[in-house]
Amino acid sequence: MKNNQGRRNFISNTLKAGLLVSATGFDKTNVLTNVEQPLNFKQTPLQYSFNALEPHIDALTMEIHYTKHAAAYTKNLNDAAAAELTGKTATLEEIMNNISSYSTKMRNNGGGHYNHELFWKCMQPNASSLHNGQLNDAIQSTFNSFENFKSKLSEAAMTRFGSGWAWLYMDNKKGLQIGSTPNQDNPLMDVSPIKGTPLLGLDIWEHAYYLKYQNRRAEYVSNWFNLVNWKFVEERFVQAK
Ligand code: MN
Repeated sequence: MKNNQGRRNFISNTLKAGLLVSATGFDKTNVLTNVEQPLNFKQTPLQYSFNALEPHIDALTMEIHYTKHAAAYTKNLNDAAAAELTGKTATLEEIMNNISSYSTKMRNNGGGHYNHELFWKCMQPNASSLHNGQLNDAIQSTFNSFENFKSKLSEAAMTRFGSGWAWLYMDNKKGLQIGSTPNQDNPLMDVSPIKGTPLLGLDIWEHAYYLKYQNRRAEYVSNWFNLVNWKFVEERFVQAK
């Protein structure tokens, strides 16, 4: 009886101690999260299933892309932020704007996180078209026609040697521009030759298309236009103006 009581106390105390440790760990995490927001970057849950973009992007590519590639950028960004932002706060946009003062790890993974978060939202399962509105007007007046805009963005994607991104972005004079960046760079970065607010991003790393398209980047780019969420892109355009 006494032994059982002792054991019960021991278990009870151990549990309490365990809870205390957990509670302390939890509090500490919360404090760090509040003070140093970048330590807590997270992937936004996908708004559609992995197979929702078929036949243009296959389910396995989406699953590996989201759960492996993009997840790794997010994790490594948090690691870089923990090491480099001690005691400081910064939003991801601020980090991008000032990326030359951080490590290559921050540049690659901060860009990777930002670019992929945008990429998932730039796509939707059902084909949409750009309806009459502010973005359509701006595309018509900047590129003469939607077809010409499409061919310019495709060209930017096709002429980027190796891995990178093709962009529709708003430059600092509020004009629409098309361009591309290498690796995980983007137009927000102070190191980028093209600068502005990304509106629409196209991932042209081989991991984005190789399982289905192998070396046929042109076919991937052409099919990808069927997935663009124009409502989302227009919202970004209006916001950036
Ligand atoms: Mn990617």
